Amino acid sequence: MRVKKQKRHRKAVRFYTACFGFREPFKVLCDGTFVHHLLLNKITPADIALANALGGPVKIFTTRCVLGELRSLGDSYAESLNAARNLLTARCDHEKRKSAVSCITDVIGENNSEHFFVATQDAELRKKFQKVPGVPLIYGLRNALFLEQPSAFQHQFVRSAEEDRSHMTDLEYKLLNVKKKNVAFEEAKDSSDANEDKNDGTLTVQAIQTNFRKKRDLKDTVQFKRKRAKGPNPLSCKKKKPCDNTNNAASVKGRKLFNNPPSISFPFPVVITYASLAWYA
Ligand SMILES: [Zn+2]
Repeated sequence: MRVKKQKRHRKAVRFYTACFGFREPFKVLCDGTFVHHLLLNKITPADIALANALGGPVKIFTTRCVLGELRSLGDSYAESLNAARNLLTARCDHEKRKSAVSCITDVIGENNSEHFFVATQDAELRKKFQKVPGVPLIYGLRNALFLEQPSAFQHQFVRSAEEDRSHMTDLEYKLLNVKKKNVAFEEAKDSSDANEDKNDGTLTVQAIQTNFRKKRDLKDTVQFKRKRAKGPNPLSCKKKKPCDNTNNAASVKGRKLFNNPPSISFPFPVVITYASLAWYA
């Protein structure tokens, strides 16, 4: 059962790393209810428990507003407040303290650009974040931690984002139309040989096209580069005559050779037989 749970958690973490760019160390944003639950159920040390649940190292965050809310709850939450003070603080820019729910909602924003895992015991808040793309949710149940599976909304969001990427954007469509018009115009211009009178409209179209080409580094036509041998065919050329310097060097070398003739040695003993002398005679 435990292995099954771990597999489900790994799969969910893979979904968020692959589709939303989550990276280790994973950042976990806790509210007061979650910190209180950790202490109540002795899920400590919290970073190791969370790292085991997510399958990677973690950094645990809270916000100043969450600390303020815990402080306002009095002595019964004093221990949780002390524990939460040891956590890292995520920036929330709230000068006047907000409720933990609205503070965390603000920090997550529209698309959780900071890549936080949100850890809370507040079921309502978790439900709310299921409607925000790229917000993984953690909660505790007695002494175990659970990572919620990606919601149907989040799966749908990823699918439609993929579809959008595979289609042309409005800007790309407009630029393509401009390009088509421009090509048609150039063809017409070539046939009527009207090079001199360019009107303003064409110039704008051309300017847009050049800008577009500069930005995207596109070329109008496919350019083939033919491989050609450089220089004349070496098989049909005479050999280069050696220059004077080399001549001199060769003659000096020859002279040297002549002055000191090399001794000829045979690899085998030469036996001059009587019969061979007779043959020469
Ligand atoms: Zn805040």
